[in-house]
Amino acid sequence: MLIDSEDIRSQFTENLQKLMGYIMSRFPGVPLIFVDKKECKENLGIPFSEEGNACCFTKEGNMYVALKELDSLLAKEPDIAHELGHFWLESHGFPRRLQVPFKTKDEKERDYYFARLHEIMEHAIIYPWLKDNYSFDLYIIGTNRLVEFLRNELPKLSNEYSIYKYPLQKVTLIIYYLKYDTESDDRGLQDRLEKAYSKSTLVEMRYIAKRVLKIIRGLSNQEPDPKCFKEKYCEVLKTIGIDKQFWPEYMQD
Ligand SMILES: [Zn+2]
Repeated sequence: MLIDSEDIRSQFTENLQKLMGYIMSRFPGVPLIFVDKKECKENLGIPFSEEGNACCFTKEGNMYVALKELDSLLAKEPDIAHELGHFWLESHGFPRRLQVPFKTKDEKERDYYFARLHEIMEHAIIYPWLKDNYSFDLYIIGTNRLVEFLRNELPKLSNEYSIYKYPLQKVTLIIYYLKYDTESDDRGLQDRLEKAYSKSTLVEMRYIAKRVLKIIRGLSNQEPDPKCFKEKYCEVLKTIGIDKQFWPEYMQD
């Protein structure tokens, strides 16, 4: 199923209409289409991540926002705004991940981490921009996820001893820290996250995450700059300790 945004635009709130208008003005003549998960996978051939609620991409002269379902589209405004935020950065020439076939399992796994990191770093720019300019507070969603993480996921993760044996699994715990801290603006909960990583086995990950967060925070509240973004991205990979030979090419000039 697919819906041309022009056919539904007038039903959205004023803030979303304003945001849509702005994003479309940055891609003159390019239609914005909403598609559901099924259409996305079967007809457009784009994988839809089971973890996320939505994704966005450009294909054959169209901009697409894919959502799990297209019913009650009006209730999904925060997800739509989120994806439009990614288009906003794309319109500034931000790097886009290349979909290449993977040679090894490690390569595939690394790509997954690289993509997550990329997401988190873009969110550090998008969230404050949407909140200040269009009154979409995506931090509310992030805060709920942080609560859930502290309550259910982290206790499980930190009890699994095997997690510390493999370097890439250490990266998982660093990325969780980065994600939940960046996507919430609740100081009290961010402090709880910091405390939750004070267990001896997690301290190393917290130390690295806090150094990385300093780099990521430098992205917020300034004009989007793809060159600076790529530099910071590489600085982050270096800080996490990922060997330069593995860094994604699309992030290097
Ligand atoms: Zn996102």
